[in-house]
Amino acid sequence: RAKESGRNTQCFYDANIQRLITDQLELQRDLRLAIAEDQLQLYYQLQVDRYKQVAGVEALVRWHHPQRGMVMPGVFIHVAEQSDDIICLGDWILDRACRQLLEWQNHPQRFQWSIAVNVSVRQLRADDFADKVIETLQRTGARPDRLLLEITESMLLIDTEQVIQKMARLKKVGVRFSLDDFGTGYSSLGYLNRLPIDELKIDQSFVSDMTDDEHHQVLIRTILSLGKTLSLTTIAEGVETEQQFTILKALGCDRFQGYWFGRPVPAHELPEY
Ligand code: C2E
Ligand code: MG
Ligand code: MG
Ligand code: MG
Repeated sequence: RAKESGRNTQCFYDANIQRLITDQLELQRDLRLAIAEDQLQLYYQLQVDRYKQVAGVEALVRWHHPQRGMVMPGVFIHVAEQSDDIICLGDWILDRACRQLLEWQNHPQRFQWSIAVNVSVRQLRADDFADKVIETLQRTGARPDRLLLEITESMLLIDTEQVIQKMARLKKVGVRFSLDDFGTGYSSLGYLNRLPIDELKIDQSFVSDMTDDEHHQVLIRTILSLGKTLSLTTIAEGVETEQQFTILKALGCDRFQGYWFGRPVPAHELPEY
């Protein structure tokens, strides 16, 4: 009997894995159609300064799947990242964000807004990454100094020299870089100041635990003073309450992003100020 149930457990386990694989393959297949079928959309989330003035937005991709409904990037980005699909997806996202920038450049209240675009490691490691970004800026007419590229610490562990060279080329034309999810990765401090970055983005996990976990507040304090020392802008993500905003402001954080100021929405749903 024990043997039998053991085998059943085994089967059950295999069936789960099987379903997972089928699911991923299905997602991958559907994703390849998504761009052509116009199922992707960029949502934008406000980023504000200490006076709650909008400084810019972060672009966050959404997928309107014909059967599944809205699929979040947490579900499909890692699937796309397993192949060059992420390159196609990334090209599309960059193109849309730059076109949005151009539209805002001619808008009386939004001409100074920047757009932060998340970049995946495979994009950054492609030889033509810098050329492609420059070409997209030129083709769309978006101002390079309005574009922020968000990268994560782990992306800088491999091919560091080549990556820094590409970043430096983009910085020369005015593009800026933000280090996303900062504090969760592996940056050694010595190597941070070699990177051509402009902004540190404090991970939302520190922000969410900040009010009841003193260690996290100490960590945030350390990141903020590090930012100051290196002359980097600091931004906190995942700000959900007024209390978090007040504390972060008191600690000297420059910028804020989170549900407290607004959820990610399509461009036409952004508030009119
Ligand atoms: P991320 O870049 O760290 O983006 C922040 C995530 O936190 C977003 O989730 C955003 O909706 C969410 N968020 C914002 N404010 C709050 C808040 O106050 N509380 C909480 N709990 N969450 C908040 P989203 O849109 O699901 O994106 C998840 C991740 O997917 C992103 O993390 C990013 O790594 C990736 N991603 C999203 N869009 C793109 C894209 O266009 N390209 C690439 N390569 N990756 C993307
Ligand atoms: Mg991001
Ligand atoms: Mg982040
Ligand atoms: Mg995050």
